[in-house]
Amino acid sequence: ESVELSQLLQTTVASFEKAYQRRVELSCPQELHLITDEQKLKQLLYIFMDNARKYSEEAIEVHVEKAGKHVAIRVMDRGIGMSQKDLEKVFDRFYQVEESRTEGYGLGLSLAEELAHALKADIQLSSEKGKGKGTTATILLPLSEDSHF
Ligand code: ATP
Repeated sequence: ESVELSQLLQTTVASFEKAYQRRVELSCPQELHLITDEQKLKQLLYIFMDNARKYSEEAIEVHVEKAGKHVAIRVMDRGIGMSQKDLEKVFDRFYQVEESRTEGYGLGLSLAEELAHALKADIQLSSEKGKGKGTTATILLPLSEDSHF
């Protein structure tokens, strides 16, 4: 189905902000039409925003930019971050970093991998521990030939 990304992001962010009373700064420079699965993409965004909410206290940022033949959607937080060692394991089902165990079950990111696979998207996670650092989750969605950006 054809989806307009900036509209999808605005709606998703607005419902997230309302549900959790947390501020999300969204920057999506222009309209972009993609062929993708709207529900799956929303779910994927929600998983990353939900983690950003759980593991940080300040504003969450969502940025969109072009990355070659992909569009990169980045969800950034300035929270507790993860070590490189943990970063290798967090996509495993039920894995939670020892000191950051919260209400969850360690399932979000393994579900994110499945959703990304279904969307033919790649996901990347980068993270650093320490004050002013945090985590960035990137969704790389393939652009179709005719989607100019
Ligand atoms: P849920 O089952 O509700 O998703 P969860 O958040 O524990 O629970 P995942 O989303 O799979 O599960 O994340 C796995 C682990 O990775 C988390 O427990 C947390 O330790 C770490 N993690 C994920 N995202 C972040 C983040 N943005 N900042 C810091 N740690 C994170």
